[in-house]
This record gives sequence, structure tokens and C-alpha cells, in this order.
Amino acid sequence: MYQTKAYSVASASASFTSDTIQRREPTERDVQIEILFCGVCHSDLHTARDEWSSVMPTTYPCVPGHEIVGRVTGIGSQVTSHGIGDLVGVGCMVDSDHICPTCQDHQEQFCHNGTYTYNSPDKHGTAPVTYGGYSESIVVDERFVLRVPANLDLAGVAPLLCAGITTYSPIRRWGDLTGKKVGVVGLGGLGHMGVKFARAFGAHVVVFTTSPHKKEDALRLGAHEVIISTNTEAMQQHAGTFNFILDTIAADHDINAYINMLGRDGNITLVGAPDTPLQVSAFALLFGRKSLSGSLIGGIEETQEMLDFCGEHSIISDVEIIPIQQINQAYERLVKSDVKYRFSIDMASLKVE
Ligand code: NAP
Ligand code: ZN
Repeated sequence: MYQTKAYSVASASASFTSDTIQRREPTERDVQIEILFCGVCHSDLHTARDEWSSVMPTTYPCVPGHEIVGRVTGIGSQVTSHGIGDLVGVGCMVDSDHICPTCQDHQEQFCHNGTYTYNSPDKHGTAPVTYGGYSESIVVDERFVLRVPANLDLAGVAPLLCAGITTYSPIRRWGDLTGKKVGVVGLGGLGHMGVKFARAFGAHVVVFTTSPHKKEDALRLGAHEVIISTNTEAMQQHAGTFNFILDTIAADHDINAYINMLGRDGNITLVGAPDTPLQVSAFALLFGRKSLSGSLIGGIEETQEMLDFCGEHSIISDVEIIPIQQINQAYERLVKSDVKYRFSIDMASLKVE
């Protein structure tokens, strides 16, 4: 085992402070990565503050971070897919059992024996739970390490590892979006990636936002139209016209307002994960045979496909780069929906501590 610097929280109400954590030495199939950038996902905040306690309670100390980009500094003797010096990414998962039907189907995110990048029991016994990317380095099974296209800016690549795949996967799964009317609800980390992908796949993209000042940005990011969701008249004008809506809202909200936007056989897919249950009107779904689904990140194969797609189309996240020392202020701004459109932590800042 070796020690590496990190930022952790000691309880649900604590601020982040500098810490030192243990990592395992790379085993045969492991890749050791010096972390260069780590995105700040709203799931990090939900977890650090134990907002998902009823589903996934948090073990402290907690080191979040699952949008990791870095450089390979060490490999185990059996590693074949990555070499020292390679630029690589790690997302929300670091292990699965590889043998269950779900893994065989390349859907490791649903493996019952899977390991999340942070706050999962650590199968290697290095620590009580896994520790994420708000740290100097990480050691990960090579099968969960992704190749990063060489032409993309690394600070903007990091958020692709969660926000990117979480929006890419349901958009791809929906089918041919050419000319379809697609809504993206909430212009945050996930939402702004959803806009970029829906546009890249040929949809007519409409952003629903509670923040009027984000309108210009939404259009710049690729939206054709923007609806201020608090404007009832504007909402009514678009009622019943959407084929597909991606809901990325992180807090409780009236989902029926968006179900009403769908046309016949339209689908709304939840990727946002509010900590309290949403109230769904049966009638809103029945009339028009509409459906409501959920989606969780994506499998490793699909994550690589997404990264390659981003390389080919020069797609990255719009980021505000911060030093790790500003993580507490960043969380306060995240709660206020005040980030354009993802914080990306420059991990070089941790070295100077
Ligand atoms: P984020 O950057 O904070 O963006 C969320 C956006 O939702 C905000 O920018 C805001 O957009 C809107 N919003 C926030 N509170 C709202 C409210 N009370 N009413 C209406 N709109 C509100 O968060 P994120 O990182 O994109 O994550 C979004 C959610 O997805 C979180 O719950 C996160 O845990 C979850 N998530 C799920 C997966 C998955 O696999 N399913 C993966 C990653 C994250 P406007 O200002 O435009 O209104
Ligand atoms: Zn995430």
C-alpha cells in the first residue's frame, strides 16, 4: 500500500479538508493513474452530504470524484490494454464480477457485484470503502480504464466520464433522433452534455430551464429553442409536441409538467436523482400512452464508444477549472445551479499542499 493526498469530508455536515488516504499497489491487472483533472458531479454532493441515505448511505471519511482523467504511471504484469504515459479516464465504476448476464451483456453498471469508484465496499480491503478522484492518484482494474482521445482538452474531457455517458447512453438508446423534438430539462453538468449529444444526433433540441440567464448559453451549446419552465404560457404552447425528454433535475420537481410536454408514445427518461420520490400522475401517462424511464450511466464498452465519438466530433464539457482548495465554494454554487457548466478540479493544485 502507499499513501496519496486527497480531499475528504468527515460527516454529512462537514466541509472538505486535506487528507491522506491509502491506495493499493497495482496488482497484475491494475493500472496506476496520476489524476490530472476530476469533474464535480452533483452525485458527489448528494453522497458527501448523505442525501441518498435511504438508498446508498455514505461511509465517512468520503472522497468523491468519478470523472477522472489522468496519466498512467504504473501497470501490473498482466496489463495489456494500457501503457505507462497513456492518457486515460475512469468513470463511476472500478469493478464488476464480469461473469453475470448483465456483465456479459456489457451493462456492468447494473452488476449486483459491482464496485463504484467511491463509497462502495473495497474488495481489496485497502480501506472500508473505495475512494474517488479528489486525490492525487488511483489504482483501477484495467477493464475499467478508458482510452482518452488525444485531440481533446483534458479538463473538459473529465466530465465526459459521468455527465457524458449518462446523457449519451439514453439518447443513443432512444433510436434515430433525426428531426425529432427532444427536450433537455435542467441546464447543468448533465443537461449541457445532453444538449450537445442530442444536437450531434440530429434532433430539434429544446432546453427547459429555471434560469433565464442561461438562455444565450443554451443556444450556443446547440439548443434550437429555450423554454423558461416557470413561464406557464410558454409551457402550454409546447404541450404534447415532444418525442423524447431527458430530465436531469437534481431536486424535487413536478415531473407531470414535463410528461404533459410529450406527444403520443413519447418518453421521458429520468437521469436526475432527487433524494425524495417524485409524484407521477397516472393520467398524464395514460392519455397518449406515454412512458417514464430511468437510466444509469452506461457500460464500459458504451463509455469508450462515447469518448471516441467525442474525439471524432470534438465534443467536450464546458468547464470552470478550479483548484481543489475551492471545492467547498464550488459545492455551494452547485446547490444554487450556478455553474457553467461543470467544475473541473485541476489536481496539480493538490501537489502544492
Ligand atoms: P447540476 O449540474 O447541479 O444540474 C442540475 C440542473 O437542474 C441545474 O443546473 C438546474 O438547471 C436544474 N435544477 C436544479 N434544481 C432544480 C429545481 N429545484 N427545480 C428545477 N430545476 C432544478 O447537476 P448534475 O451533475 O447535472 O446532476 C443532475 C442529477 O443527475 C443529480 O441528481 C445527479 O445525482 C444525477 N446523476 C445521475 C446519473 C445517472 O447515472 N442517472 C449520473 C450522474 C448524475 P436550470 O438552472 O437550467 O434550471
Ligand atoms: Zn456523476
